[in-house]
Amino acid sequence: MAGLWFTEKQTENFGITMKINKTLHTETTDFQHLEMAETAEWGNMLFLDGMVMTSQRDEFVYHEMVAHVPLFTHPKPENVLVVGGGDGGVIREVLKHPSVKKATLVEIDGKVIEYSKKYLPEIAGELENERVEVIVGDGFMHIAESENVYDVIMVDSTEPVGPAVNLFTKGFYSGISKALKEDGIFVAQSDNPWFKGDLIKQVMSDVKEIFPITRLYTANIPTYPSGLWAFTLGSKKHDPLKVEEERFHDIETKYYTKELHNAAFVLPKFVKDLTE
Ligand code: SAM
Repeated sequence: MAGLWFTEKQTENFGITMKINKTLHTETTDFQHLEMAETAEWGNMLFLDGMVMTSQRDEFVYHEMVAHVPLFTHPKPENVLVVGGGDGGVIREVLKHPSVKKATLVEIDGKVIEYSKKYLPEIAGELENERVEVIVGDGFMHIAESENVYDVIMVDSTEPVGPAVNLFTKGFYSGISKALKEDGIFVAQSDNPWFKGDLIKQVMSDVKEIFPITRLYTANIPTYPSGLWAFTLGSKKHDPLKVEEERFHDIETKYYTKELHNAAFVLPKFVKDLTE
């Protein structure tokens, strides 16, 4: 890709384009095509099957919003699971919460972990932390085998293609509910409202059938197609919109604030319509 402009196509007519300085690594793994490249604007970037996964420059938005919204909603998260997320960014954020005793990462593709450690060290740097257990395996199977163990589960998956197809099914959300403790919370990245409205609608309606509290929130992520990204939160007991002021302790962030925690749930009308 060196010296070229790379486009992640969202449709036949629209994509997101960036200039590549050089390709750092390219490989077809057992699960997907992996590319690591140095870009002119966004630092090193990870691509899977031609889709942007993360960039050094804007990764903090996604990783902070996946981790801190549920972790500040739960009064005392101790045991946390991340499904996918082999770049390590969500784990890094999870560890900022002192109540967390153990964070488990279940990533299907060991190569994502290996090359993230090599080329995205500030994102993957906490994967060796003693509070972290890394399992290379299928998150769907891990969930199916877990019962009443986790306080918070975060689904940091690829889009619903290839190995991630099962992670967008009602059966998976039921499994998550079973794997969570009685006041557990889960969050899943849910793609973008501009082009994947039907997916968001489906996920919301499936999750609503399983969790008494279901909410959608968004964040602005410049390197993801359309820039507006959605996250679905399902909770058994704690409402993310009723977090007591004193529960927000200080952590170092670049995007998340306690004000933004609430603001992220205020949706533009066309996005709100997807949730009803
Ligand atoms: N932040 C990105 C986004 O929204 O585009 C996604 C991050 S990427 C690290 C997601 C990871 O999910 C990939 O490394 C992929 O290998 C992993 N994954 C996909 N299906 C999985 C499964 N069934 N179990 C565990 N991990 C899976």
